[in-house]
Amino acid sequence: MAGNHQQPEVNIGLVGHVDHGKTTLVQALSGEWTDQHSEEMKRGISIRLGYADATFRRCPECEEPDAYTVADHCEEHDVDTEVVRTVSFVDAPGHETLMATMLSGAAIMDGAVLVVSATEDVPQAQTEEHLMALDIIGIENIVIAQNKVDLVDADRARENYEQITEFVSGTVAEDAPIIPVSAGQEVNIDVLIDAIETRIPTPERDPDADARMHVARSFDINRPGTTWDQLKGGVIGGSLVSGRLHTDDDIEVRPGREVEEGGQTEYRPIETTIRSLQAGGQTVDEASPGGLLGVGTGLDPSYTKGDALAGQIAGPPGTLPPTWDAFTMSVDLLDRVVGDDMGEVEDINTGEPLMLTVGTATTVGAVTSAREGECEVNLKRPVCAPDGAKIAINRRVGARWRLIGVGTLQG
Ligand code: GDP
Ligand code: MG
Repeated sequence: MAGNHQQPEVNIGLVGHVDHGKTTLVQALSGEWTDQHSEEMKRGISIRLGYADATFRRCPECEEPDAYTVADHCEEHDVDTEVVRTVSFVDAPGHETLMATMLSGAAIMDGAVLVVSATEDVPQAQTEEHLMALDIIGIENIVIAQNKVDLVDADRARENYEQITEFVSGTVAEDAPIIPVSAGQEVNIDVLIDAIETRIPTPERDPDADARMHVARSFDINRPGTTWDQLKGGVIGGSLVSGRLHTDDDIEVRPGREVEEGGQTEYRPIETTIRSLQAGGQTVDEASPGGLLGVGTGLDPSYTKGDALAGQIAGPPGTLPPTWDAFTMSVDLLDRVVGDDMGEVEDINTGEPLMLTVGTATTVGAVTSAREGECEVNLKRPVCAPDGAKIAINRRVGARWRLIGVGTLQG
């Protein structure tokens, strides 16, 4: 796509324990924080999931992996570098209470970089929990960044490397390359880019597939006091997982809008027209999968205000999966609750509340019937999801929700 190389084509998650250097690494990989989105978009979207686009480049004269860089000029050979690929990083928060956010972010990740600090023993709580989440959601293209190697001596670095190898053995990251780096000192970033290029390819996408967008945020961009003739329509932000969207396309959003009538609340799908599209920091007429997308619509901004549509799905009218108020799911429980000394995972009981992440949606469900390997749940908020969707199952253990297993939606 000549002239359009700026639009990212793949989403890469940055996961790992708090303070291990995810945000610093995104900074090192994206060269600089590009101010791509309008202030409203940025404020709206990066609070929960930080996004940054990075264009990987290659010096035509250097040997690989030294050739990889994010700079547009190679000092050594005094030549301009060539664009390899633009990627979008989804910087997942490491704080334990934000696990639900990490899980919903995982729904739009095509691959992930697991950041592990060399200064601490392996695994720390969220190192383990995030790896388990990647496993459950089926993200197999993983690169491990052993970070902060500038802070340890060679022996400690080697010992830590062994711990990482042992920890990932038998998991989805078993064969993932482990690249020692210093995000802070920008050491070995070229080798890391090389590994990402090899291990996290852009998925093959069918250009004719129906557009399907996971809505991560939604907002009203109007300042208070804006007069009606100046009002801008509601904005939704998220990521396309298939197909393409264009300005003037009609879209449907499901489950849609909460409507109260005669003491009953229900959700009704909403339809609107795309008025503007923002992708890769630019206003575009066509958006394809990868990166963060802002969609200006003709919707009444009160419908989109305050993330009212977060977790929903958008696409051409009549093509979206069903909306569920309740469903049956087959259940595959973990052996033990992830975290220090959290014990074994007990069977799911009828009546207990579960927090379920389906796509980018998070909802609480009450178990109405639990059987061996299967249960029925009644959802507090409905979700739009296809049959067979993967569901991350969390149970309240002590003060917080803990990941206990994976479900498959069975209708
Ligand atoms: P996050 O919570 O995983 O996003 O971690 P941050 O990127 O915020 O980093 C946590 C702290 O570690 C910050 O003070 C960083 O400056 C520091 N840090 C991150 N990477 C490195 C590194 O490679 N070397 C050193 N010395 N410090 C680092
Ligand atoms: Mg961070």
